[in-house]
Amino acid sequence: EQTVQRIAAGEVVERPASVVKELIENSLDAGATRVAVSVEAGGTEGIRVRDDGVGIPEDQLEAAVAEHATSKIGDIEDLDHGVGTLGFRGEALYTVGAVSRLTVRSRPPGADAGAEITVEGGEVGDVRPAGCPEGTTIEVDDLFYNTPARKKFLKRTATEFDRINTVVTGYALANPGVAVSLEHDGRETFATEGNGDLRSAVLAVYGREVAEAMVDVGWEPDGSGPDAADPPVRGVTGLVSHPETTRSTREYLATYVNGRYVTASALREAVLDAYGGQLAPDRYPFAVLFVEVPPGDVDVNVHPRKLEVRFDEEPAVREAVEDAVEEALLDHGL
Ligand code: ADP
Ligand code: MG
Repeated sequence: EQTVQRIAAGEVVERPASVVKELIENSLDAGATRVAVSVEAGGTEGIRVRDDGVGIPEDQLEAAVAEHATSKIGDIEDLDHGVGTLGFRGEALYTVGAVSRLTVRSRPPGADAGAEITVEGGEVGDVRPAGCPEGTTIEVDDLFYNTPARKKFLKRTATEFDRINTVVTGYALANPGVAVSLEHDGRETFATEGNGDLRSAVLAVYGREVAEAMVDVGWEPDGSGPDAADPPVRGVTGLVSHPETTRSTREYLATYVNGRYVTASALREAVLDAYGGQLAPDRYPFAVLFVEVPPGDVDVNVHPRKLEVRFDEEPAVREAVEDAVEEALLDHGL
């Protein structure tokens, strides 16, 4: 039984970044205003996510790490929740516990004391009292220690950390109202203020030069034509960089659909098209773009563990994004 559990877990939890993603989602679901992520050796030795959310009452700790344990019943039917998490429904902690040494420590706000539970390679320990601040701290040590094949598949720690950085950055930018921080081997990578301002989050994550080169995007459907009552794109907002503030990779083109980080070649291409010939060869701008579409028009099930999405109305989405970015650049004389 444990072998089956471990194989299944290895398929769902691909690497440290997938664990980090699940833990951050849980913290956000718990209404956290602060989420502090700290990892060791690219997350392969240790991952810790601490939040100030609603916490887990002592008598629910065991359930939280059990199979199919979710306190979010409504979400099971809710395809609009958690793109890369669809394979996971109430399974994240259980799955991670099968392939690591997991500690869940929590104190709901107002509770007298905290409590913790540990899971080692699927073996669930007893609930014990634990001193801790209000909120929840999840620790994942020695990921894949009992699945050598999966462990061997991991890349260099620098590469694993890059992926974690991308994930945490994605959530930090999508949630400027939440103070998100990331630390690697004891050194802070970034920390956002959580003041609700996107530009301030960009400053924390990418630095001053980039933040100052960003221009505001704000596009709405014009309310005319046959689609006026139910437009295929409801809005495009965010920030894009001056055409001279670029990098040599596409990874700084962050796109969100209905609030969730996604990758979609249609979105990336639309952004690049908007810059026309203004970008130097093989240079890519920074973008943090939020696209709103009717929930039924986006297929998040292309691959349950990937972030790729498809749009029913792809040409309309492309056009709206291209227009939005073009207008933003024009407005700033670019
Ligand atoms: P899911 O998020 O799909 O419900 P998980 O395995 O990720 O499943 O989490 C199991 C349960 O543990 C959640 O439903 C929630 O009740 C609880 N939980 C996990 N992380 C947190 C957290 N950071 N704060 C509060 N509750 C949490
Ligand atoms: Mg979860």
